Amino acid sequence: MLLTIGAIWLPLRALIAVVIFFALYLFAAKIVRAFLRPMPEDPDPEKVRVVSERFRCSICGAEVTMTAAPEGFDPEAPRHCREDMLLVVEAE
Ligand SMILES: [Zn+2]
Repeated sequence: MLLTIGAIWLPLRALIAVVIFFALYLFAAKIVRAFLRPMPEDPDPEKVRVVSERFRCSICGAEVTMTAAPEGFDPEAPRHCREDMLLVVEAE
């Protein structure tokens, strides 16, 4: 009786160990792959236009001036204090 339980339990434990091993392996491989991803290329200076937009943080009052933005679409407001900053001045 004890022998039969052991005969079933041992391969089951081995199977569980293999499954856990592969789960950990895949998890580690995913982390390593994230580090191996190449850095994004520098933006093309010819595709950047000059802008002058001032944004203010509605939470703490900090202000930033955006001086360049990618050509083709309006720049997104930067975030500060986990909130989108508000556009204060737009001059072109
Ligand atoms: Zn802020």
